[in-house]
Amino acid sequence: MSLNYILRAKKFKAKKSLGQNFLIDDKTIDFIAQHATKEDEILEIGPGLGFVTEQLVENAKSVVALEIDKDAINVLNKNLGNKENFHLIEQDILKTNINDLPFKDNKIKVIANIPYYITSPILVHLLGEIDELTHKNRSRISEIILMVQLEVARRIIANENSENKEYGQLSILSQMYSDVEIIKKVPKNCFSPAPKVDSALVKFTINEEPKVEVTRLLKRTVKAIFMARRKNIKNSLLNAGFVEVEQALKNAEIDKNSRGEKLSLEQIQKLSIALEEFN
Ligand code: SAM
Repeated sequence: MSLNYILRAKKFKAKKSLGQNFLIDDKTIDFIAQHATKEDEILEIGPGLGFVTEQLVENAKSVVALEIDKDAINVLNKNLGNKENFHLIEQDILKTNINDLPFKDNKIKVIANIPYYITSPILVHLLGEIDELTHKNRSRISEIILMVQLEVARRIIANENSENKEYGQLSILSQMYSDVEIIKKVPKNCFSPAPKVDSALVKFTINEEPKVEVTRLLKRTVKAIFMARRKNIKNSLLNAGFVEVEQALKNAEIDKNSRGEKLSLEQIQKLSIALEEFN
């Protein structure tokens, strides 16, 4: 832990309502910043007091940072305002189109230690829905380094073989257009104030092509399967309003008594195609 960061974080009155838990662990800060090189244009979401930002500005070609807290913005302007490759914008990420930001390159990297209560909305905002073959923000991103709760990180990387009901809509959304991996676990004492739970950094490497071909009913099928986890797959699909479910399951060679969370993305897609015949 770095005393410099601890003292600077303590001097600032952190706002719980904005999810302000500042990273004070120099090793983790270095680890994140190393993902930026002189070739990279970086979008940093929620720079806070700028502990990661200060290094990103040194390592990257340029950094555009979006922050909504005026007090944090004052600190950032004071410490980094004179850097030519740093652009601070007072703006909510959820209301931002990356194409409107001052980037020159076609592809940028995103680095975000964000409030945990907006993890899912941010992911949808950056990646798009699973059936959006092209998406305004995703098409500009090559990589995302995202800090999330450890439990959420496990859900993001989960698949049909995972335990503890980790596999679900968030896994599919995350993996449809990206390769995902947990690159570092970050214990709660690496932050000030310390949150209640441990965190992890997840790396998303964005792909041009979806993991499986997008079909008309894919999104609806995914939703139906994971909405009612206790039900078997036949009842989940009936519940969601699909008809001729038993026949579709048979055609897709899926046991009607199995649970949706045991199906691979490929099987779910096959099922969605089988359902399309009747729905
Ligand atoms: N990146 C800093 C760090 O690692 O120490 C701060 C992380 S803190 C968990 C999250 C930051 O995101 C806060 O500074 C908060 O003000 C900012 N924030 C919250 N909601 C935001 C939003 N919708 N758009 C942009 N920034 C936001």
